[in-house]
Amino acid sequence: GAAGHNHASSPADLDKHWYQTAKGKLVIGTGLLLAVAWIVKFFASEQIALWTFVAACLIGVAPVARRAFAALRAGIPFTIEGLMTIAAVGALFIGAAEEAALVVFLFAVGEVLEGVAADRARASIRALANLVPKTALVEENGVAREVDAASLQIGQLVLVRPGDRIPADGTIAEGTSGIDESPVTGESMPKTKGPGDAVFAGSINAEAALRITVTKSAEDNTISRIIALVEEAESARAPTERFIDRFSRYYMPAITGLALLVAVVPPLFFGQAWGTWVYRGLALLLIGCPCALVISVPASIASALATGAKRGMLMKGGTVIEAVARTTQVAFDKTGTLTVGRPAVTDVVVLDGTESDLLAIAAGVESGSSHPLAEAILRKAEAAGVTALLSTGARALIGKGAEANVAGEVAWVGSPRFASDSGALDGLGIRRASDMEAEGKTVVVVFRERKALGLIAMRDQPRDDAIAAIAQLSAMGITSVMLTGDNARTGAAIAGVLGMQHRADLMPDDKVTAIKDMVKSGGLIMVGDGINDAPALAAASVGVAMGSGTDVALETASAALLRNRVTDVAAMIRLARAAMGNIRQNVTLALGLKAVFLVTTIFGMTGLWIAIMADTGATVLVTLNALRLLRFNPENEG
Ligand code: ADP
Ligand code: MG
Repeated sequence: GAAGHNHASSPADLDKHWYQTAKGKLVIGTGLLLAVAWIVKFFASEQIALWTFVAACLIGVAPVARRAFAALRAGIPFTIEGLMTIAAVGALFIGAAEEAALVVFLFAVGEVLEGVAADRARASIRALANLVPKTALVEENGVAREVDAASLQIGQLVLVRPGDRIPADGTIAEGTSGIDESPVTGESMPKTKGPGDAVFAGSINAEAALRITVTKSAEDNTISRIIALVEEAESARAPTERFIDRFSRYYMPAITGLALLVAVVPPLFFGQAWGTWVYRGLALLLIGCPCALVISVPASIASALATGAKRGMLMKGGTVIEAVARTTQVAFDKTGTLTVGRPAVTDVVVLDGTESDLLAIAAGVESGSSHPLAEAILRKAEAAGVTALLSTGARALIGKGAEANVAGEVAWVGSPRFASDSGALDGLGIRRASDMEAEGKTVVVVFRERKALGLIAMRDQPRDDAIAAIAQLSAMGITSVMLTGDNARTGAAIAGVLGMQHRADLMPDDKVTAIKDMVKSGGLIMVGDGINDAPALAAASVGVAMGSGTDVALETASAALLRNRVTDVAAMIRLARAAMGNIRQNVTLALGLKAVFLVTTIFGMTGLWIAIMADTGATVLVTLNALRLLRFNPENEG
């Protein structure tokens, strides 16, 4: 016998060593009594030794029995604890005090072991919090003074010297430096950040002194939220676990009934010896306890979540791991996910007027917009030395373009389709747009009522690792599809470069419809920025937020990739598959050993000792196997 259902240690036990916990002390206490009893048995009297075994057994079983009664009062008659109590007390009655004491001891060992697996995983996550420095240099009226980092207030200005870790989430007020965010996002390539950029507590300021305005208090900075999220995910139960729960509800009564039959039927109806069969019945009860089985799933899941979190791959619980492992298709949002999300203007085609008029109007329309295309146009206008015309009533036409009142007339910047639907683009204009689109550029039309002023073509670079990511996914038997609001020609050109399928001309609603359609043919991950594609993420089997900064990613999706690497999609699937494989191994091992010893016990080939050792062995093996996942490297292909 080994562990119980309540695998989470009590909150007070969280930061203690195993030997300082109540369960740990029980192990040590009963272990010492056992040792004393054996010494007495060999060097003094068997009689005195017997009473020492009885004492060890009673002390050890007391907390277990208390939990069994608590469950009984709560209306749960069949628990591992109940099984354990009946078996131990029964063993005392048939004079097997030594075995009973040993069983109780090993049960306690199993419980401690189970805690160790969960704690290892937890500790590796908690270690992240230790990366946030304990003190910070607050600057007030030009004077720096050292304070407790936990006491920092929003709005305070802190000084971070080169080489120091950043003490709080904040924005840079002064200075530019390379910042290593690996503790938070797993990304160890330093990023250059300057005034106005957001920084995370725990990151390393590599190069130059920075002044940072604190934007989050210590308890809700990003790193604390990641830790809380992983811990929450650990306690969220996976369907596999619920299966085991359901399984136990039938299994426990069945095993108790079977033990009763084994103990009673042969002596009563076949004149066999009571002692032998009661012993065998009790042995069966002990072996029947599915302890290794019960700890197998949470231990594997905790390890997998911890391994992912260290690389900025956050999955919100066992259910997500299971769904990710079953993935057969991945849909990517194009802009900001497969591409960098920072398009640059490549061509300006004037159809009416001058180039600077065209840019001034386009910039005027876009000046209120935060769409990546709008930002590209504004950057181009600025670079060309053109001032945006003043605009009023600017508004976004989702999936089509933008509209505003510029120089007393309504003007639009939008997709060629939208422009020709509005009757502003003639055949020649459409052809010129199509030609540029076939090169993978996104073309927008600047137009007024029924009159096109010109075309602006932009190109967004694919992310460096996008091609590799798609190749890895297809090697894993997973199809990748690009979803985009761009037109089919641009979509086809970019998808062609990346080696994937595409669906283009999608309005935001169409993306949701496309996802729902694809989900029908198998597990589907949707990868997006989590900002303007939240509905599509929600419609997929698993929505993964990537490339939008941690805030949004942590809130919106069921999984998040904080490193902005497309290859992490493949890595996350590998990790989830490894976790499910690990769980399958553990369940097989636990159930397999159980089945073998159930049979050998009924036929009297093995007794209590071996069965007990086998279950303890299974518990140890299952725990060790789960811990292997802590060392799993999901970036390793193959
Ligand atoms: P994506 O799926 O690539 O993120 P969107 O759905 O945001 O694309 O936009 C679809 C199309 O609508 C764009 O390719 C562009 O032609 C047009 N569009 C949307 N917003 C704007 C804007 N602010 N300025 C110009 N064109 C826009
Ligand atoms: Mg988009």
